[in-house]
Amino acid sequence: MTVVKTSSLGFPRIGLNREWKKSLESYWKEKIDRETFLQEMDKQFLEAVKTQLDQQIDIVPVSDFTYYDHVLDTAVMFNLIPERFKHIQDPLDTYFAMARGTRNAVPCEMTKWFNTNYHYLVPEFEKSMEFRLTKNKPLEAYRKAKAFLGVETKPVILGLYTFVTLAKGYEKQEVASIYQQLIPLYIQLLQELELEGVRWVQIDEPALVTASREEIAAAKEIYQAIKDEVPTLNVLLQTYFDSVDEYEELISFPVEGIGLDFVHDQGKNLEQLKSLGFPKNKVLAAGILDGRNIWKTNLEERLDWITELVSEIRVSEIWIQPSNSLLHVPVAIHPDEQLAKDLLNGLAFAKEKCVELHLLKEGLLSGKAAIGEQINNVNRHLDILKHFGTATDQTFTEEQLTEKDFTRETAYEKRLTLQNESLGLPLLPTTTIGSFPQTAEVRSARQKWRKQEWSDGEYEAFIKAEMNKWIDIQEDIGLDVLVHGEFERTDMVEYFGEKLAGFAFTKFGWVQSYGSRCVRPPLIYGDVEFKEPMTVKETVYAQSLTSKKVKGMLTGPVTILNWSFARCDLSRKEIAFQIAYALKKEVEALEKAGIQIIQVDEPALREGLPLKERDWNDYLTWAAQAFRLSTSSVQDTTQIHTHMCYSHFEDIVDTIEELDADVITIEHSRSHGEFLEYLEHRPYLKGLGLGVYDIHSPRVPPASEMLTIICDALKVCPKDRFWVNPDCGLKTRQPEETIAALKNMVEAAKQARDSLAQTVS
Ligand code: GLN
Ligand code: ZN
Repeated sequence: MTVVKTSSLGFPRIGLNREWKKSLESYWKEKIDRETFLQEMDKQFLEAVKTQLDQQIDIVPVSDFTYYDHVLDTAVMFNLIPERFKHIQDPLDTYFAMARGTRNAVPCEMTKWFNTNYHYLVPEFEKSMEFRLTKNKPLEAYRKAKAFLGVETKPVILGLYTFVTLAKGYEKQEVASIYQQLIPLYIQLLQELELEGVRWVQIDEPALVTASREEIAAAKEIYQAIKDEVPTLNVLLQTYFDSVDEYEELISFPVEGIGLDFVHDQGKNLEQLKSLGFPKNKVLAAGILDGRNIWKTNLEERLDWITELVSEIRVSEIWIQPSNSLLHVPVAIHPDEQLAKDLLNGLAFAKEKCVELHLLKEGLLSGKAAIGEQINNVNRHLDILKHFGTATDQTFTEEQLTEKDFTRETAYEKRLTLQNESLGLPLLPTTTIGSFPQTAEVRSARQKWRKQEWSDGEYEAFIKAEMNKWIDIQEDIGLDVLVHGEFERTDMVEYFGEKLAGFAFTKFGWVQSYGSRCVRPPLIYGDVEFKEPMTVKETVYAQSLTSKKVKGMLTGPVTILNWSFARCDLSRKEIAFQIAYALKKEVEALEKAGIQIIQVDEPALREGLPLKERDWNDYLTWAAQAFRLSTSSVQDTTQIHTHMCYSHFEDIVDTIEELDADVITIEHSRSHGEFLEYLEHRPYLKGLGLGVYDIHSPRVPPASEMLTIICDALKVCPKDRFWVNPDCGLKTRQPEETIAALKNMVEAAKQARDSLAQTVS
């Protein structure tokens, strides 16, 4: 008989009403003192543990909770404090300085946690660092849960292999020595847990899913070293976000349990488990609920699945759990959530997922009939949901499409000539990425309108006035291609989601993005369809104010998809195509209204890359197709732009080319010429605008600095198709600094043009 337990890998930190965020921000603004802050944090930590206990989760994690980020916690625990923060005495001040920076020290770099929308702080190794265990955070958390709730919990730590993989500041050949220095600290930490009587510890090693044979061998040595010194503590080695390539090697690690993701693995983990078996003496921690999406689990299907698995592999103990930490979904369905009932009934957030786990355990132990009623309910809700979002016979299907729908009629070079004639732009045209400062005034206007204190007419008049103001400003600055400023948008995905069919928005469905910053991803519950023009009114109005060209501004299909919770009954490709098809209608509407330059932003295209390189091609192919589906039907003289904002483009230059956009503007100013070096060997021959200044800081760079970037770029980019623009949208900046920086940018472009003219003459 197999022992069955429910387990959780991690729980959202932010609290049902984002109490966590509020405590943090109040502390930072010195509205509460440290003691109060620490008390509030403890309370929220215990609340998360209690929520899981209340849903009868058998093995509840601790120390996944953090004051900012669990990777930063790990770095600080091992004393990886970069030199620039060393002068700060107090540990908590140091911690937040690393997270948020100080006047004199830039914060640690922030980057995506694998292929999720959570951002972690990148640990930095420096030569002079002395590693030591500054505190045992997992032990403290374990003790707290025991003292206040009287329960045994499972401390979670980030494994050494993954920690080092995610860090920077070392060369490949130094890895072995870093392991040698840090292994004793892991041992010390784990020995303290062992001594305390902790039964299980969860060591997260998501990076193992992409580890090569050599890497997995090196990782195994880490775990052997740990086992030698910490013999009686049970270690659950936890992987997630994909299947394990080196499965056979992984299951032979000297640990007591192995955690596998059976949801995001494309069926590979199960396949390997069936063909290569699973050690009888280890616990199988089976991730069987989707920890990254928000729909109810099909209990019947999952129960059948896990029942069959248990009967086939006959392990002595199995834990059923979500595929990964529930950090990536909202805490719980809020009692005041306002969504259509049928939709609400189809949702399961973190707390509800815990309930599902318990039901599955019951079903597994006592047979399907024991949870028959719940199964029927879920089936009914999921069935209603299936029909809830299906649209009319107008709904487009992929079969209707032909190659023509993805292809512009004329090749780029010819289009360029035609566009040059019809747009009449100077050499090195200047433009911005779309948004202008969303000042307190703009935000308060939108609030008033949302709360119905302002009528539609009042709000519209306000937006128009902002456009008037900023068209004047842009003309005054001397920019060549203008924008309307995006004052009517809070968020570049939400704005379109609210206007397309198939999207819904929660009021309380917050998810942590980084630090205290939370987002509310839209739900794509049904077929996405175009209803009516979404941006034409504002764009046409802005265009009516100026004789310069105003660029239409849309968010691309892949970005809309990647920043939403998507339905599961269609493939991501199909959903992207539906969105693309709807956007195509918007593009056509803009063109018809006389807009000659249209930008379709795809800042999230790259982050959607699958973890495994072998899956990249498939994703990139349909992502590029989706983009082309939305932009290919325009006339030759209509210029399509796109924008992406990160600096490592090397991986996807082929795809960028495949988008067949006439112009791409990208973030560049912080990449220190790396990309230019790359372009030297792999020229990019379509329109390209490399960001000439960083928009993340209020600093106004002098024209000379931007001129240097332009001149360097012109050494490798064709002059007749190079654009001058900032790194990204200016929404987070203040008006004064924006205007000053753009003036310098226009001046830099002018000087660059002058010097080009001189070289020619
Ligand atoms: N057009 C958008 C803006 O300017 C682009 C934002 C982004 O790339 N994230 O705000
Ligand atoms: Zn951007």
